[in-house]
Amino acid sequence: MESILVLTHVDETGAALTRASREAVTAGLALASRMAASLAIGIGAVDATNAATAVGASGARLLATSGEAFGQARYATDAAACEALCRAVNATIVLAPGSSRFMRVAAGVVQRLGGVIDTHVLSLGSGKSIDAGRWFYRQRIEAVLSRDVRPWILLLAPGTHAPFSGECGSTEVEIVHVEEPVTRTTVTGVRTPPKDAQTIRPDAAMLFVAGAGWTKKQPDGQVHAGEAGELILGFINAAGASLGSSKSLVDQGSDGQPVLPFLTHMNQIGQTGATPRHAKGLATCCHGEEPHVVGWRFIGERRAISLDPNCGWARGKADVVYVADAFKVMARVNADLASRKA
Ligand SMILES: Cc1cc2nc3c(=O)[nH]c(=O)nc-3n(C[C@H](O)[C@H](O)[C@H](O)COP(=O)(O)OP(=O)(O)OC[C@H]3O[C@@H](n4cnc5c(N)ncnc54)[C@H](O)[C@@H]3O)c2cc1C
Repeated sequence: MESILVLTHVDETGAALTRASREAVTAGLALASRMAASLAIGIGAVDATNAATAVGASGARLLATSGEAFGQARYATDAAACEALCRAVNATIVLAPGSSRFMRVAAGVVQRLGGVIDTHVLSLGSGKSIDAGRWFYRQRIEAVLSRDVRPWILLLAPGTHAPFSGECGSTEVEIVHVEEPVTRTTVTGVRTPPKDAQTIRPDAAMLFVAGAGWTKKQPDGQVHAGEAGELILGFINAAGASLGSSKSLVDQGSDGQPVLPFLTHMNQIGQTGATPRHAKGLATCCHGEEPHVVGWRFIGERRAISLDPNCGWARGKADVVYVADAFKVMARVNADLASRKA
């Protein structure tokens, strides 16, 4: 019988489990019930009380590390904690969120345990075996993997499962003793840019894409890059959306054309850019060419605003296309958002 362990960690508050961790709990519950396997949840935190309460209703065995050293994201301590939790339950299958924190240590942990690992896992199959689904080669090839070697660590791509949200239950947490490893890194604090400086927001419900049209000559014969920047930032900050871009727009900086200073190649969506996951997407001033639209593979509902009624979006790539001036539409949308907030 498989022994399934879900590894989780807390967010920057130090108390609540991350959304991706709660998604891994959902995946673990479904897998354990399908395979009639035992399920344990391992929590990495200084004090796991709060986090354990949030998953107490899962009915799983709860284990946690404890101690100041395990509060910070640091290779030596995170790897030691994950290894100890895996050994404590003799885990054969380990599910964990594909967060930057676990992506950094999971390969090292599996090396210590003599097992195997797969990353970017989207699904675990539905039959009596574990069939891990993932994409390769920039989302062009979809593969299903099964393995005999144990333990097998599967890092789940965030956004692929519903986060666990059971009623808070009474909880009994087993504290796993972890020998504190020698550390060279002392975390003295965390410095992050202000919230509105970060335009790439993987957890946002909506993706807003800016295309090259924003910095092209408009019907009055003038370029309105400054106004474009204000409208775009105004919208993504008011709506809490994530900002994507077409390649043409982010390439313009190197071509000496008008630029939007807050965009970098990190914002680029498409074949040579990112393939983010959001429930909704709105493309503006963007033509909707195939190399761009392939990056929309995981966007649920797609809408576009373009002056061109023959743009790619209008040819079946969007659910709704507004043939309109994005400057006017977004000014109106921003005004509506502001009046709702007031
Ligand atoms: C190998 C390869 C890889 C590529 N990879 C990528 C990739 O990863 N991502 C990517 O994006 N592209 C990629 N491209 C480029 C892609 O083919 C397109 O050239 C690019 O997406 C076009 O960007 P755009 O739609 O913003 O600009 P444009 O094609 O210039 O379109 C601008 C649009 O804005 C509209 N517009 C202008 N003013 C307004 C207004 N006021 N209101 C509304 N609409 C307006 C215009 O009508 C036009 O349709 C790749 C190309 C190749 C060859």
